[in-house]
Amino acid sequence: MAAEPQKEWFEKNYYKTLGVNEKASAKDITKAYRKLARELHPDKNPGDTAAESRFKEVSAAYDVIGDEEKRTRYDEVRRLGPMTGGRGGPGGPGGPGGAGGFNVGFDDIGDLLGGLFNRGGGGRGGRGGRGGPQQQQTRAQEGADLEADLTLDFDDAVNGLETTITLTSEATCHTCSGSGSNPGSKPETCKVCKGKGVQDEDQGLFSFSRPCTSCSGRGSVITDPCTTCRGIGVEVRPRDVKVRIPAGVKTGQKIRLKGRGGPGRLGGPPGDLFVRVNVADHPLFARSGADLTIDVPITFAEAALGANVKVPTLDGEPVTIRIPAGTATGKTFRLRGKGGSGDLLATVVVTVPDELSDEQRQAIEALAEATPDSPRAHLGV
Ligand SMILES: [Zn+2]
Ligand SMILES: [Zn+2]
Repeated sequence: MAAEPQKEWFEKNYYKTLGVNEKASAKDITKAYRKLARELHPDKNPGDTAAESRFKEVSAAYDVIGDEEKRTRYDEVRRLGPMTGGRGGPGGPGGPGGAGGFNVGFDDIGDLLGGLFNRGGGGRGGRGGRGGPQQQQTRAQEGADLEADLTLDFDDAVNGLETTITLTSEATCHTCSGSGSNPGSKPETCKVCKGKGVQDEDQGLFSFSRPCTSCSGRGSVITDPCTTCRGIGVEVRPRDVKVRIPAGVKTGQKIRLKGRGGPGRLGGPPGDLFVRVNVADHPLFARSGADLTIDVPITFAEAALGANVKVPTLDGEPVTIRIPAGTATGKTFRLRGKGGSGDLLATVVVTVPDELSDEQRQAIEALAEATPDSPRAHLGV
């Protein structure tokens, strides 16, 4: 909903705030606003708190009635004033006589107030006691979107998998399949509204359709409530949901499962389930974009002389890379197609032993002697 009604809309007369007629054109409203805004601007009235709060009121008013869409909604909300105890009904000019003025369906009100009262909202677990009859829920309502966490092994995140998660949330009652009636019994037509779900209420010129208080607008009354869900049609219970994880998911990514969220009410569609993925670390591999990375330690001798080095891959089959003689530490070799759906980037790291045997020490000392040129000559120090 682009322009959701705000509570203040019932309380404030924005037209009065801007000093314009309710029928004023958009142009006139803008004009009135500009004039007031100029007069009341804090720069012009330093330290004048009254002017400052007026300035804020004027801005708030213009924010609503200066916007065509919001203004339409605002007018609608205010037209419905009597419903909410706002204004009294407009002292009518004679009235269109006869057939009961005009009738505002509660569906419209539901539309208008939907954003204001309890629509949408994060599901997450049981939503406490859902008001029974006094919660006047009269139209099909979409189920809540839910979130669940799923921790994946590194391999599974790279390769993708199909798995089942169990989550505890509101779900369609398994006993009555959501009807609210004990199996074998049927809801009876509401006697108060004769199944219409609404009651007409006259308010002088106006007549309003209110949701029937006896049946909460359902038009029927559950005479033998389901013992599992006590007639609500919804229960909180653990349920299994199949999730297909695409290859290459990363930590923090959310996978949307359409229609697997909270159940809808009164025939409304279910919400969605968002599975938030957390990928466990791997002791050897990490990820870089679509590729996998691995550090491959090699000795100085292998780096200097060249060597064939075996590298593990995620799917188990090791591959051999040919390290050419004179390879520097940090050099990366790309092994095409060996990193899940990407490549494997193997970075060689020349290791230095922290302890040397006598034999090693002698060999390295001999190497040092045979290396008269400093590799730092170019530093000039
Ligand atoms: Zn049930
Ligand atoms: Zn009824």
